[in-house]
Amino acid sequence: MYPASFEYLIPKDLKDATALLGRYGNTAKLLAGGQSLVPMMKLRLARPKYLIDLNRLPGLSYIKESNGFVHCGAMTRHFVFEKSPLINEKLPLIAEAATHIADAQVRNRGTLGGALAQADPSGDWGPVILALNARLKCVGLEGERVIEAKDFFSFAYTTALQDNEILAEVAFPLQEKATCGVFLKLEKVSGDFAIVSVALQLGVDQNNVCRAIGIGLGGAGITPIKPDSVEHFLLGKPMTADLIEQAARMISEQASPIDDLKGSADYKKKVLKVLFNRAVATALQKPQ
Ligand SMILES: Cc1cc2nc3c(=O)[nH]c(=O)nc-3n(C[C@H](O)[C@H](O)[C@H](O)COP(=O)(O)OP(=O)(O)OC[C@H]3O[C@@H](n4cnc5c(N)ncnc54)[C@H](O)[C@@H]3O)c2cc1C
Repeated sequence: MYPASFEYLIPKDLKDATALLGRYGNTAKLLAGGQSLVPMMKLRLARPKYLIDLNRLPGLSYIKESNGFVHCGAMTRHFVFEKSPLINEKLPLIAEAATHIADAQVRNRGTLGGALAQADPSGDWGPVILALNARLKCVGLEGERVIEAKDFFSFAYTTALQDNEILAEVAFPLQEKATCGVFLKLEKVSGDFAIVSVALQLGVDQNNVCRAIGIGLGGAGITPIKPDSVEHFLLGKPMTADLIEQAARMISEQASPIDDLKGSADYKKKVLKVLFNRAVATALQKPQ
């Protein structure tokens, strides 16, 4: 199918883009990689009158380190995270998750900002920003503000972004303690959205005591979930087999997935428990 007709707008800069969003309100849509928006327009599930193309805006695609954060521009494409030496050295969880997204074609076009704004409950970036406690910089008509990852997702396909706001940057804090990351995802076929997924950033000391932990879950509810009560439960305790099993049970109990064509809610809860156990076992074997 062809999309309904629309007017195509090329803003000069971010300020111009927010002004256009302000002028046209919810009759306008931002175009990033187009990997979610264009199929929806073709199916006429989205019929924007104005398409504001972010692809030619300068300065929205970068990965750089400063002030204890790795700053990533919203228009950075998925594949760039796979290849980035900085990401692979400092936050390899991000690179690992990026390789799980769709296929090479989608990864070449799709962007970090577009995927997060799309807020698919089974998307792969959601669990990652939650596990790493990222901060999201948004720019609107009134200026800039920062949203913590835990406050970003408000419902399925819905975020805390206002109608006239653009997600400009995601900043990932560099880990203060020695940690390592693991991303595990169960999918029906390779390149599919997750049935469920687990992102884990874990640090233990020489006595196997948990000194740092971040967890994010995908496909586990109507939004990506950060089970912070499980993080608090594990922090400061020795990571014994019993403790890990208890934490995995808590993850499964706290998740509220839905029954759908990918699996029943009950099945997804069981898989989350298995994936969490595996993620911890893998993290404990990795060098920190
Ligand atoms: C076949 C296929 C398989 C896929 N599999 C996976 C998968 O396994 N895992 C996964 O995580 N994703 C998957 N995706 C989704 C993919 O990651 C998309 O790239 C992503 O959802 C949307 O990013 P985009 O840059 O293409 O955004 P677009 O499609 O251009 O935009 C998506 C939405 O976000 C808005 N938007 C875009 N940029 C911004 C911004 N900076 N600020 C505010 N709003 C903005 C747009 O207006 C639109 O509403 C898949 C997609 C396809 C087509």
